[in-house]
Amino acid sequence: MDKVVLVRYGEVALKTPYVRSFMERRLLEHIKFILDRNNVKYGEIKLISGRIFVRNVENAYEIAKIVSNIFGVVSTSPAVEVQTKLDSIREAVIEYSRKVLKDNMTFAIRARRVKKFPVKSKDLERILGADVLEALKGRNIRVNLTSPNITIYVEVRSRKTYIFHEVLEGVGGLPYGVEGKAISLVSGGIDSPVATWLIMKRGVKVIPVYFNSGKFTSEEAVEKAHKVMEILRKWVPEKEFYFYEVNYEKALNEMVKKVKPQLVCLACKRTMLKTAIKLAIKEEAKAVITGESLGQVASQTLDNMFAIGYDLKFPILRPLIGLDKEEIVKIARKIGTYNISSKAAVECKASPVFRGYKAAAHADISVISELEETVEIDELVNELVKNTRKVFI
Ligand code: ATP
Ligand code: MG
Repeated sequence: MDKVVLVRYGEVALKTPYVRSFMERRLLEHIKFILDRNNVKYGEIKLISGRIFVRNVENAYEIAKIVSNIFGVVSTSPAVEVQTKLDSIREAVIEYSRKVLKDNMTFAIRARRVKKFPVKSKDLERILGADVLEALKGRNIRVNLTSPNITIYVEVRSRKTYIFHEVLEGVGGLPYGVEGKAISLVSGGIDSPVATWLIMKRGVKVIPVYFNSGKFTSEEAVEKAHKVMEILRKWVPEKEFYFYEVNYEKALNEMVKKVKPQLVCLACKRTMLKTAIKLAIKEEAKAVITGESLGQVASQTLDNMFAIGYDLKFPILRPLIGLDKEEIVKIARKIGTYNISSKAAVECKASPVFRGYKAAAHADISVISELEETVEIDELVNELVKNTRKVFI
């Protein structure tokens, strides 16, 4: 009996053969990369008709857990592998049940088989169920087909048979990078890391960009943003990962000097978007991602979003647009950014609220052309792109 991990993937399997094999290859590479990065031992990784098998592993559960967090994976199971022969299967199921069934437990056997295996699935379930009862006699172990404590799954394939009882839910989505690239506006807050992750999960390679406002922000806020990048990095199954850090102090200073306090956020957000678009073009990325959620704060009213993004000819992805804060927080917890993102820190001393004003919640687009002129946003953007460094992590 060898220990293996079964890896199931979903949507990839629905693609045309060409796309499918491209995606499967990427997924295999990612599994290898992540396992190596975690220093775990395994014999080989094989793809056989719609399933990936990580063979000869030492700690199958640990590996199943790690692999379940790779984009594109629907579920995993730590399992044992035996020859597809009735005797070997019977012996293995008995041994397996000895390990997983505790006294007084109920169980069920669920079998599936390839057609050419001579024993029908239902018959196999009966044979194996009787074997287990007999082998574990005296321990008050019973069969319960409707709600057993443990279900032992037996998957009979042509050459090998797999026995397992746990199915670990995977993150799903598509393999990282198969959908091309996007630039993502990432702060250390709760929302933007979640937005970034959701797009990564759909197969997009993401290059985050962080605007460091210097004297207008706090050391804690900068540190939060950097830590968030490190957490996002953990989800990336590739050797190279970097983000852009924009030196934003001077530009923000210009805005504070020249723009009505109520409108600073609008000018700032539009400048960020425009800079991100420039970086996207440079990177041959096809979209810019933001963490905006409709109506969440003053700058995220529909009116303001319309104004901020007015006439920008580039796709802007806002994956959180229809989510409530609680839904966003739930994802932030799941992906590991919440604890850092939720720490209090002074984010922006240039904001109207910080300076005792109210932010304009329903800007008219005429304001935008005014802002474009008073602060010369396009020139700021050209400067900002130059004042940007790549940070590899
Ligand atoms: P978050 O929780 O992501 O900080 P937020 O709810 O605080 O978002 P805003 O401050 O209005 O929202 O910012 C809207 C979006 O603009 C953010 O989700 C993010 O995508 C981007 N953004 C804001 N500040 C920065 C920054 N310093 N660097 C990069 N992107 C930023
Ligand atoms: Mg924020």
